[in-house]
Amino acid sequence: MNRRHFLGSSVAAPALLTGLRTEIDKLDIISTHEHLLSEPERLASKPTFFTLAEHYLGNDLISAGMPAPATTWAEFEPWWRYAKHTGYAQALRIALRDLYAIAEISAASQPKIDAAITAANRPGLYQRVLHEKARIRYGVVDDYWHGDPIRPDPAFFVLARKMDWFCSAAKASDIRRMEEVTGIAIPDVRGLKRALERRLEQSLQAGLVTLKTTLAYSRPLRFEEISEADAQADFDLLIKTPQSRPPQRLSDHMFHHVLQLAQDARLPIQVHTGLQAGNGNLLENSRPTQLNNLFLRYPGVTFDLFHLGWPWVTEVAALAKIFRNVTVDFCWAWVISPTAARNALHELLETVPANKLLGFGGDYRQVELTYAHSRMARAGVAQVLAEKVGAGFCTESEAADLARLLLHDNAARLFPNAPRPRP
Ligand SMILES: [Zn+2]
Repeated sequence: MNRRHFLGSSVAAPALLTGLRTEIDKLDIISTHEHLLSEPERLASKPTFFTLAEHYLGNDLISAGMPAPATTWAEFEPWWRYAKHTGYAQALRIALRDLYAIAEISAASQPKIDAAITAANRPGLYQRVLHEKARIRYGVVDDYWHGDPIRPDPAFFVLARKMDWFCSAAKASDIRRMEEVTGIAIPDVRGLKRALERRLEQSLQAGLVTLKTTLAYSRPLRFEEISEADAQADFDLLIKTPQSRPPQRLSDHMFHHVLQLAQDARLPIQVHTGLQAGNGNLLENSRPTQLNNLFLRYPGVTFDLFHLGWPWVTEVAALAKIFRNVTVDFCWAWVISPTAARNALHELLETVPANKLLGFGGDYRQVELTYAHSRMARAGVAQVLAEKVGAGFCTESEAADLARLLLHDNAARLFPNAPRPRP
């Protein structure tokens, strides 16, 4: 009897795991989502240990009780004790171990970490870390800190941009700023739509391959179909009286316009769902099933649901199972929880066709951590696939095919790094 089957469904035979891990480590992969600085920005930024420890680990340290972001070891250490085993902390440890040969994070090693980061912070860093170490062909970058769209370095990135600003007007000065930036007069909702269209054109000229939205950080993901007249009433209100929050009918109407433009231009949209970064938000705002009406209304738009919608993984699986235009994206997921991501992959492989699963997105600002996240993703995918082979779910060669789809081919199709044919 095959020993793997004899051992049961959830245990992968060591040789099988090692074989798959070796195969998967050799793959060139694509990252569906990054916030990485351009290399010149990174080199100018003079990073230290605390630069790496801040994103996202800083959120866990605050959650543990740290009163403010740490800038000294004395401020950091009491909370690191409690947060050092979370996924974010694992990523930091892997980065320092593999890239800087520093095995332990301590008061004694912190100056050495700073020195190693400084020594590595020179031209060629991205080639070494992203291409040679992480074997990431390219990543989809959302460089939200740049106001205007800028073409990213094609050696490493393709561009994602948000149009959320045009769905978030709350006062007359917001509208005036949009006029300045786009050069379009905005006397009314029609003008606001023209300004949005101009911004999309500018972004396409800079190489945009996908739209993105993080509106779930500030409002619920339920977007009703609102008439232009009702949206205009909200517009008139905010011009007359500054609103504390963007009026919802105008926001809904504008987001539908974003999706209509996406459909016309055959652009996918990456949608933040699930856990919000930071230390305080309304989690329910990001619940994935709230998007359901949009999947029906815009069949020509692919909605790439970020972060597994965690903790609503099963909701995302159900949506991706029935809708041709919904994909599931593991970006951020392997550092939120390697176990949750593995469990999700087990479930998703059984429920969703494999051409709709995007297995990795680093979602970091610093390349060391994107590297570490890629290691965690490869390890997780290998472990799950080895368990699946062990359970008789698929053969070893089918597992290798699945890994290529998850870590490269599906992202290459949805977010190509070559010009997409325009309608
Ligand atoms: Zn992100």
